[in-house]
Amino acid sequence: MKKILVTGGAGFLGSHLCEELLSQGNEVICMDNYFTGRKKNIVHLLDHPFFELVRHDVTFPYFVEVDEIYNLACPASPIHYQYNPIKTIKTSVMGAINMLGLAKRIKSKILQASTSEVYGDPTIHPQPEEYWGNVNPIGKRSCYDEGKRCAETLFFDYYYQNKVRIKVVRIFNTYGSNMHPDDGRVVSNFITQALQNKDITVYGDGSQSRSFCYCDDLIRGFISMMNTDDSVIGPINLGNPGEFTIKELAEIIVDLTGSKSKIIYLPQVEDDPMQRQPIIDKAREKLNWEPKIQLKEGLIKTIAYFEKELEEMR
Ligand code: NAD
Ligand code: UDP
Repeated sequence: MKKILVTGGAGFLGSHLCEELLSQGNEVICMDNYFTGRKKNIVHLLDHPFFELVRHDVTFPYFVEVDEIYNLACPASPIHYQYNPIKTIKTSVMGAINMLGLAKRIKSKILQASTSEVYGDPTIHPQPEEYWGNVNPIGKRSCYDEGKRCAETLFFDYYYQNKVRIKVVRIFNTYGSNMHPDDGRVVSNFITQALQNKDITVYGDGSQSRSFCYCDDLIRGFISMMNTDDSVIGPINLGNPGEFTIKELAEIIVDLTGSKSKIIYLPQVEDDPMQRQPIIDKAREKLNWEPKIQLKEGLIKTIAYFEKELEEMR
């Protein structure tokens, strides 16, 4: 049995990770400040004898003896990370410093939930890990993009300088159950709008693309990465290479929900990346990982989750 710390454990991905780590027979400490996460996501784990919940902000030092740390604490939806941009960058940078300092002291492994946002609005397509990115350092998305880029730098400097046992994964748009209905990201927005027959809000002309990964696939990738030997440090892209325009996504969701919603086009948001698709050769080679759940299948499961959420809110 391993002892594992998950920061951001009450969020969308963190809650799935805690659940899976417990089901694999580990002891899990879930740390969260509930900025975008919620107890509802992990309430069913509270009675588990090997689950512990800690209210703590990752920008402050925290000490615990564990074998592994998954560092997920950081708001991930643009509307939430832009709400208090200084706090967002502090969470990425000071959070990384605190968790890397802890990993150094206790000699644990540590995995960073990095992001495809480190590639910014990419000038090469699809994106391999070798690409350095095209990121605006002073725009609306910079608090998140540059915060995550600096966190990667810190991870690698702790590795080069102190031999900390790092693992860095770059996650491409992931969706599924446990997303907050007001999360603000595209899949949750479109599904909740469609289920309520409200207008589907496409920002811009909908020609921008994303590649959508279902949460269960992603969590498998996280754990496979953590279980590699110390020579595998990343960065490794984790995502589903199936690429769709936002207009296509809207049409698929209207179709799958049988909704009467109209698709409407609103002004484009600042610095919105125009295309995103991961090259996952490294994940295939080093982790023997690839996504198994394709978009429609994942959306059907996610629609069922949001139907229940909206029902409970009524
Ligand atoms: P989320 O917003 O649901 O989860 C983030 C969690 O971190 C929340 O529970 C939140 O309360 C917590 N948190 C935020 N600031 C904190 C702080 N200062 N101290 C402690 N906890 C804090 O988002 P998610 O989609 O589950 O994302 C999890 C991680 O994965 C994030 O680091 C995100 O950047 C990364 N990521 C996610 C995606 C995706 O598509 N889901 C893509 C790229 C990267
Ligand atoms: N988007 C949209 N309508 C929405 C929410 C998002 O058209 O209601 C678009 C957004 O402009 C972007 C894409 O969907 O082009 C993905 O947005 P999201 O916020 O989910 O993730 P990110 O931009 O961080 O990839």
